[in-house]
Amino acid sequence: MENIYDAIVIGGGPFGIATVVEAKRKGFQNVLLLEKGDNHSQTIRKFYKDGKRVDKVYKGLDSDTKGSVEFFDGTKESTLNYFDKLLDDGKIDALFNCEVEGIKKTGEIFDVHTAKGSFKTKYVMIGIGKMGKPNKPEYKIPPSLNQVVNFNLNGCNCGEEILVVGGGNSAAEYAVELSKCNKVTLCYRKEKFTRLNEINETSVFEYANAGKLKLKLGLDVVGLDNENGLVKVNFNDGSSQIYDRIIYAIGGSTPVDFLQKCGIEMNSDSQPILDENLQTKTLGLFVGGDIASRTGGSIVVALNDAHKVISYIIK
Ligand SMILES: Cc1cc2nc3c(=O)[nH]c(=O)nc-3n(C[C@H](O)[C@H](O)[C@H](O)COP(=O)(O)OP(=O)(O)OC[C@H]3O[C@@H](n4cnc5c(N)ncnc54)[C@H](O)[C@@H]3O)c2cc1C
Repeated sequence: MENIYDAIVIGGGPFGIATVVEAKRKGFQNVLLLEKGDNHSQTIRKFYKDGKRVDKVYKGLDSDTKGSVEFFDGTKESTLNYFDKLLDDGKIDALFNCEVEGIKKTGEIFDVHTAKGSFKTKYVMIGIGKMGKPNKPEYKIPPSLNQVVNFNLNGCNCGEEILVVGGGNSAAEYAVELSKCNKVTLCYRKEKFTRLNEINETSVFEYANAGKLKLKLGLDVVGLDNENGLVKVNFNDGSSQIYDRIIYAIGGSTPVDFLQKCGIEMNSDSQPILDENLQTKTLGLFVGGDIASRTGGSIVVALNDAHKVISYIIK
């Protein structure tokens, strides 16, 4: 007989990991985690700089874990080790390099389609985050600048003149880190930072006051040109400046196409329509973590979403 899983969880980030772990701890026998990347936690691996401080209290969001998966302040590396251990100790069945292409429900059972074949299950939880599609500016980026127009720190060197664009914690952390061995400017379209946590705000102004980081506040980028292989950045006050590299840290967006392909109804703000237990209009199909959040999300919010879904199913 064909194997029917109790639950399949799509996306091996904090939501997916906590969901499979909680599910097994609560008695689900047969649970599978499917992850597109070659390991779990691709957002943390690709977008957190090495050694990054990982804050449990993030952006002022819920910071108390409600379920059996706890969380602690740490670093990128300690967080990844912690998630490794959760998966190992929980003896979780996980398939990496396994991108889910869509799901379909027939009767009571879902078919989860991947390039590696289809899997059958009673419940599906989707936690694929928003950073698979980092936000890009509306103006066109000249393709010839692709190597020096980046959305994370991979590929950055020392001794460069770099513009970081964004006003959130990621932009602040990138700018401070890069300032240690580069000439960095942080550009934010608003006059003031309103979304930074205390530590990041303090570091940004410490570095700026010490002349190690230049701030361009209340100024927006309106276009880029290639100037002999360098990035000519045009600002909305009519000025322009040349940089070796530009890094956008302006968040990510909901993977609307994927969710619609899974038959999930979206509201006019392109948010999945969910009930208070994070269930979509299709019974047995849940969404959690960043893609369920209107406020951007955090690791603790993702862990608590996992707890909410599993507790509801158990009940
Ligand atoms: C630079 C940066 C710094 C941050 N710092 C902090 C912090 O200090 N503290 C904090 O609490 N939060 C922080 N956050 C936010 C935190 O990382 C997110 O809220 C959290 O990772 C969301 O977890 P998630 O499981 O919803 O999604 P994600 O972590 O984005 O995981 C989604 C996973 O799904 C996989 N996936 C995508 N599509 C598919 C598919 N079709 N099939 C299978 N798998 C798929 C992806 O590869 C990925 O591994 C930070 C975010 C960024 C970008």
